[in-house]
Amino acid sequence: MSQNTMEILNVKDLVVNVEDKEILHGLNLRMNAGETHVIMGPNGAGKSTLGHALMGNPKYEVISGEATFEGEDLLDMDVHKRSQAGLYLSFQNPIEVPGISISNFLRSALEQRGEKISLWNFRKALKAQMEVLQMDKSYMDRDLNVGFSGGEKKKAEILQMLMLKPKLAILDETDSGLDVDAVRTVSVGVEEYQKNQNGALLIITHSTKILEALKVDYVHILVNGRIVDTGDVSLIDDINENGFERYLKAEN
Ligand code: ADP
Ligand code: MG
Repeated sequence: MSQNTMEILNVKDLVVNVEDKEILHGLNLRMNAGETHVIMGPNGAGKSTLGHALMGNPKYEVISGEATFEGEDLLDMDVHKRSQAGLYLSFQNPIEVPGISISNFLRSALEQRGEKISLWNFRKALKAQMEVLQMDKSYMDRDLNVGFSGGEKKKAEILQMLMLKPKLAILDETDSGLDVDAVRTVSVGVEEYQKNQNGALLIITHSTKILEALKVDYVHILVNGRIVDTGDVSLIDDINENGFERYLKAEN
């Protein structure tokens, strides 16, 4: 079997509660390694909830259903183990980590995964990825996200993704609220991850700016806690023109 037909994620009938309220009502999603899937849906549909539940955020309580990652039970793993298995989530609001530089943060993240790499080679790899993102090298010794602008935090996150080389990256509204320059950097980084690292992507988005340079395999529509339609990239144009109206009507 070729790498690209290997199943990476299989979510079956997932029901998730947030603060005792059911948000996902039986969600199904299948992805193969290396594929890029886009999830679109109105505000409050449950898109971020799906990302957090897959990442194992304890606030998002899985009530029933299944989720496997490369055939292994994902719901059984804690957050740390999910990350070690190769899952990566780009949050809407990255946290600041005073006292820990980007460089030290990423090196210890790699070490926790059991990757032995000399400081010299690590710094070399880090510089190479920063070059791809056109990030100033001085960032590597700055405390993670401390005093960073919204755009700089996103760049740091994309840098983290390129260094950790996850098998599946979930990007939740990664391009929202960014200036043109930051959107370009994010796009370049995501394109690098897709083309040169062959990583799978689950992109949750309102805007389609970061999709322009990417190969998109499937587009899913998430409405009221379920995926109600799946199509190819032409579905994006359809949504941009007509919104989610017809899906919302069908629900009521
Ligand atoms: P989307 O990302 O599609 O806009 P979310 O998954 O963020 O939607 O939210 C879906 C629903 O779950 C909303 O009604 C939201 O208020 C609720 N919700 C999500 N996360 C939380 C949370 N941490 N605390 C309380 N309610 C939440
Ligand atoms: Mg959201």
